[in-house]
Amino acid sequence: MGLRSAIEWTESTWNPVTGCTKISPGCKHCYAERMAERLQAMGQENYRNGFELTLQPHMLELPLRWKKPQAIFVNSMSDLFHKDVPLDYIQRVFDVMRRAHWHRFQLLTKRADRLAALESNLPWAPNIWMGVSVESNKYRSRIDHLRATRAMLRFLSLEPLLGPLPDLDLRGIDWVIVGGESGPKARPMDPAWAKDIRDQCRRAKVSFFFKQWGGKNKKQAGRVLDGRTWDQMPSSPSHARGSGNIAAMQGAAT
Ligand code: SF4
Repeated sequence: MGLRSAIEWTESTWNPVTGCTKISPGCKHCYAERMAERLQAMGQENYRNGFELTLQPHMLELPLRWKKPQAIFVNSMSDLFHKDVPLDYIQRVFDVMRRAHWHRFQLLTKRADRLAALESNLPWAPNIWMGVSVESNKYRSRIDHLRATRAMLRFLSLEPLLGPLPDLDLRGIDWVIVGGESGPKARPMDPAWAKDIRDQCRRAKVSFFFKQWGGKNKKQAGRVLDGRTWDQMPSSPSHARGSGNIAAMQGAAT
């Protein structure tokens, strides 16, 4: 199903794949896992396998039926570049995104090595924004893999931020999102880490979006950093920009 999203930097979600497996510490409290278990318990057919990786081919053409242009987060409940998603299926997802050119599609992966390995086989289009998640210094090589792709707009999701990320190489990166973990067992984010990334973005002239502080009560913790909110969206390349409003948000996986 396509869902209105509570994610601050997107509008809708589209899940042609559901389920995943954990690959790094950022996955520890995976939002998608919790949500999949809940939807399974509610008897939702697409989640009959819970959080087990499941292709959902009947969902493939859905965005083509949405006539209103919108920002769509692809696979909020999975990771499209998971090893168990065949290349030909990823190509079908990309083909739908290319054909649904009136939407802006936002993809995020932690499997940046597989993304880089497959990218030459994918039909990239200006409306496809490609991002990688990086939670700590150990995983910064994902940024190099992203840079190696032909995506026309590349972004980083530094969430849940679990450590400092000094001296990021932001060449070829258009947008950076930072957020702390939320939920009952949230791991804390040091404000100095977020401020340092904001300053790096300023110096590199990269758009910076501060999503949330997180914590046990994320609403209370809010999303003000140094006295203001940071909702910058990428301004370049201009052909890849969408026009949608950015809705208020609750969580995102991958
Ligand atoms: S959906 Fe994302 S956060 Fe959850 S297990 Fe997969 S890669 Fe990790």
